[in-house]
Formats: sequence, C-alpha cells, structure tokens
Amino acid sequence: MSVPTWKWFIEYTHPTQAHMHGVERFVFSSKTKYQVVEIIDTEFYGRCLVLDGKIQSSEHDEYIYHETLIQPAMILHPEPKSVMIIGGGEGAVLREILRHPSVEQIVMVDIDREVVELCKEYLPSWHQGSFNDPKVKVLYMDARKYLQKTDDVFDIIYMDLTEPIDDGPSYLLFTKQFYQLVSDRLADDGIIALQAGSFNPRLLECHAAVCNTLATSFPVVRSYHSFIPSYDAVWGFALASKVHDPLELSISEVDKRITARGIEELKYYDGETHQTMFSIPKDVRTAKEKEKRIIADDRPLITY
Ligand code: SAM
Repeated sequence: MSVPTWKWFIEYTHPTQAHMHGVERFVFSSKTKYQVVEIIDTEFYGRCLVLDGKIQSSEHDEYIYHETLIQPAMILHPEPKSVMIIGGGEGAVLREILRHPSVEQIVMVDIDREVVELCKEYLPSWHQGSFNDPKVKVLYMDARKYLQKTDDVFDIIYMDLTEPIDDGPSYLLFTKQFYQLVSDRLADDGIIALQAGSFNPRLLECHAAVCNTLATSFPVVRSYHSFIPSYDAVWGFALASKVHDPLELSISEVDKRITARGIEELKYYDGETHQTMFSIPKDVRTAKEKEKRIIADDRPLITY
C-alpha cells in the first residue's frame, strides 16, 4: 500500500496527545480580535471549522453534535417559545431550534462577528439559511455582558461555546456566577443545555466540575453524552433545569413529541437515542461524586 502524501492538520487534545487529519485544501486562515479561525477541507470529515486549533464541527458529523446539544432540551420543554444561544457561530444550532414550530424568537449572542460572517459564507450546509429567518436576532457581544443588561426571559438558554482556554473569550462563562445569571434570565420552568467537556477518563475533571457548578443554581442537573467522530471522543453535555427532568421522558414519549411537532429531518436523535445519551457510565458517575470543585470567577476552569 502506498504511503499517503496528505498535508496534515494536527489537533492537540492534550500536550501529549493529538489527532491528525489528512487535508485536501486549506480554505481560510486568519486571526480575529478574539481567536484564530481556520476552515479546512479534510478528506475524511469534509469541511471543518477550527478555532484556536480545535475542531468545532465537521461537515459529515456536525448533525450528531448539534442534535445532541439542542434536541433533548427542546423536546423536554412542553412548548419552547423564546430561546437564547450563547455562542453558536456556525448557525447549526439555529437550524435545529427552528425545527420546532412553537418557537417565536431566538436571540443568538456571539462575541465574534467575523467568525459568524465566515460561517455564513463557508458553512452553508450547517446553517441552511437559518440566519435569515425572521424569528432570529443575532447580536455580536460578550454573552455575559448581554445577560447582565437584558430584561428578556427565555424558556431555554443554550451554551454552544468554545472551550474555556487560557486568554480565550469563553472561560468566564463556565462559572457559578455566570450560571446564576443564566438562571435569573430563565422562566420558572426554564432549561439550560451546554457542551460540557470530554468523557475521556483522563479529562473528566472538566465535566464533573461543570456539573457540580451548575448544581449551585439548578435543582435538576443531568449529564449526557454522544460519541463525536471528528473529535474522536465521547463528548459530555449537561442539561440543567428548575423543574423538568430528562430522565422522566420515556422512549415513546420522546418519539411522540417529535411526531406531534411534525419534525421529520432528524438523523441522530429519537427516543432510543435519548435513553442512550442519558445513561451515564460508572466512571463518569464516580468522577462526579468525587468532584468537589465549584468553578468561580476568581477560580475559573481552564482546559488545554
Ligand atoms: N461546536 C463548538 C464546540 O466545539 O464546542 C462550539 C461552536 S461555536 C463556533 C463557539 C462560538 O462561541 C464561537 O463562535 C465564539 O465566537 C463564541 N464565543 C466564545 N466566547 C464567547 C462569549 N464570551 N460570548 C459570546 N460568544 C462567545
């Protein structure tokens, strides 16, 4: 077999571990005010958005990440009307939320206008025109500043943020002070859902600490997960709520709600997937029980 002659993109997941992707084309590369942006066409996963060296999502598996982040909370809420997205650059979260007919308004707050404009141009299969939907309002500012000044109240708030890396724009959005701010801007039966770090046994501290910290503001906090092929990792998510509990949704109830809302295009999420996602392996449960850390503004969580 001949040796491949690809150019390689190397994503470090740790100083001693990396994943390599054979690249067909380096499409775009630049530094915005907030982060380094690259768009690359890989042979295996197709087009990828890379921020500060980390793959955010890829053409061939982004549906898994985005349906996982968005659909459980949307289905859990009986009638989501007002939804906020914190971050969300690619616009695929908009696409997933807009599948639900009850939605009346979506406010997306991303700090980086340049990233969003690049996603609009280079990632059309992610947003599928969702930025043009009249229900959607996009604001370009720090989401924490927005939540501090707004009086709006939301049924669901999603956090689709970059990892909390040192000097990155998102690390103050993983603290107990921030989660309290989110809780204050949620309706009485409001829900928050977020990506919450890897389930890799060497990296579990992040997920466990995020769940612990969410529990300072929310009575219901549930971990869930999906394998994201382009991350080569089982990725953790968290859903927290004042009332609703995703563990109370049976397989048939999830499927019933999807059908009742006339949603036909989902490729990953259904009742059976819901049950699998919220079934948490023992090592993760143990790590969460042992974790004592509460993430705070003066003691933020910084991942690699
Ligand atoms: N799917 C992704 C992942 O791998 O987790 C996250 C997607 S999205 C590209 C992340 C977005 O969060 C970026 O567009 C970035 O500009 C935005 N972001 C980071 N910090 C932010 C902040 N403080 N306020 C609002 N948006 C922020």
